[in-house]
Amino acid sequence: MSRNFRKAVVMSGKQWFTPKPVLANTGTTIFTVMSRLAQECGAINLSQGFPDFNAEDVLFERVLHWMRAGFNQYAPMAGCLPLRAAVAGKVEALYGTIYDVEHEITITAGATQALFTAVIAFVGAGDEVIVFEPVYDAYCPAIELAGGTVVRMQLAAPDYRPDWAAVAAAIGPRTRMIMINSPHNPTATVWSADDLAQLAALTRDTGIIVVSDEVYEHIVFDGGAHQSCAAHPELAARSVVVSSFGKTYHITGWKVGYVVAPRELMSEFRKVHQFNVFTVNTPVQLALADYMGDAGRYLHLSAFYQDKRDHFRSALAGSRFELLSSHGTYFQLARYGAISARPDTAFCEWLTREVGVAAIPVSAFFADGRDEGVIRFCFAKNEVTLDAACERLLRLHR
Ligand code: PMP
Ligand code: GLN
Repeated sequence: MSRNFRKAVVMSGKQWFTPKPVLANTGTTIFTVMSRLAQECGAINLSQGFPDFNAEDVLFERVLHWMRAGFNQYAPMAGCLPLRAAVAGKVEALYGTIYDVEHEITITAGATQALFTAVIAFVGAGDEVIVFEPVYDAYCPAIELAGGTVVRMQLAAPDYRPDWAAVAAAIGPRTRMIMINSPHNPTATVWSADDLAQLAALTRDTGIIVVSDEVYEHIVFDGGAHQSCAAHPELAARSVVVSSFGKTYHITGWKVGYVVAPRELMSEFRKVHQFNVFTVNTPVQLALADYMGDAGRYLHLSAFYQDKRDHFRSALAGSRFELLSSHGTYFQLARYGAISARPDTAFCEWLTREVGVAAIPVSAFFADGRDEGVIRFCFAKNEVTLDAACERLLRLHR
């Protein structure tokens, strides 16, 4: 059949064939849906999590420097050595564990690719993967694509603590992986050292791999400490730890992250990584390596975002929203029952269209679409943006 004929069929709108859906129950990610709606409506976008302020010029200058110096071809498959070395130095300094630069650190196209690659590398048909709901929306489709079965544990509102007895009961011979995320998106909770101790005890003497999504590792409030699986020797031995430069350096659009894991796990991870991205763009990696040289740039992040959290919360103090605790990340959950009886997706759509502020309905993070009347705001914004949004939100009453 000629290519022109195929083109004609497609262009005439006739169906060429109906593909068998692999992700039959998956729609478009809520972050795309809400950001698109915010843009259409000219609303202030507190939905998708990204800063509305820029990174420092010096970072851009370093990218340009490396581009001009000719570093524009493929980086090594695992990532540029100076960046892997900078990651190794940071992880050792903060968490006390030495990851081998050659074999135990890989630079990825953001945390999303890292998570996906980790799932594909280790999960097969018949394997079970435990996740905690509300769950970040990229996890379950990856598990389904790998042929695995998602086993959902519940983090119950309003404090969203894990129920370790339930996790113990869910673990069985088919459990292949547990995916965790602290600080947690969307609930803004932070796991304690005791949580990691429980996880270590439950996975002891099993073959379970822990995938620890730590993209908000540098955003923990009120003097709390991030508990990294990398800092827990027993868990580190079975963990793939994922982070993202997007969150840390206000460059979510650059899509660069990294993974640290013991050599045995990393060699399997790289078997997939080499064929799903091979590597990540070179000048950005080299610039990030330079930029990481100043630890203050990530060490001050908790205070930086705590100020924003406090500003946002105090601006909303007189509103009808009930604000839940925010212990980390750059998200704030709010109940809106005193304003509206709408389901959360309808409320967010109304809020975007009629009030001019976009937020994320938390039901999007539940497989069954459970609606607890809670929405998520992102406060990674300039104060003028937050003030303008709060002014609109303060007008709402039932
Ligand atoms: N995990 C969580 C919990 C996130 O919030 C995000 C998004 N920001 C990611 C993973 C994806 O990170 P990246 O943009 O680096 O792919
Ligand atoms: N992680 C971001 C959030 O939670 C969104 C990232 C994305 O759009 N994929 O808002």
